[in-house]
Amino acid sequence: MVEITLSVAGERVTLKSCSACDLRWWEGYQGKLPLARLLDLAAGER
Ligand SMILES: [Zn+2]
Repeated sequence: MVEITLSVAGERVTLKSCSACDLRWWEGYQGKLPLARLLDLAAGER
């Protein structure tokens, strides 16, 4: 399991990646973060 935490529009988000399962997903402070939500954040929408 690899975790990369970064800040998108002031919100801490973590990219979690499991090479064993070949899965990766984003988590925000509320839990799992859909990619569309992440893109909204990156675009400055709230
Ligand atoms: Zn796994």
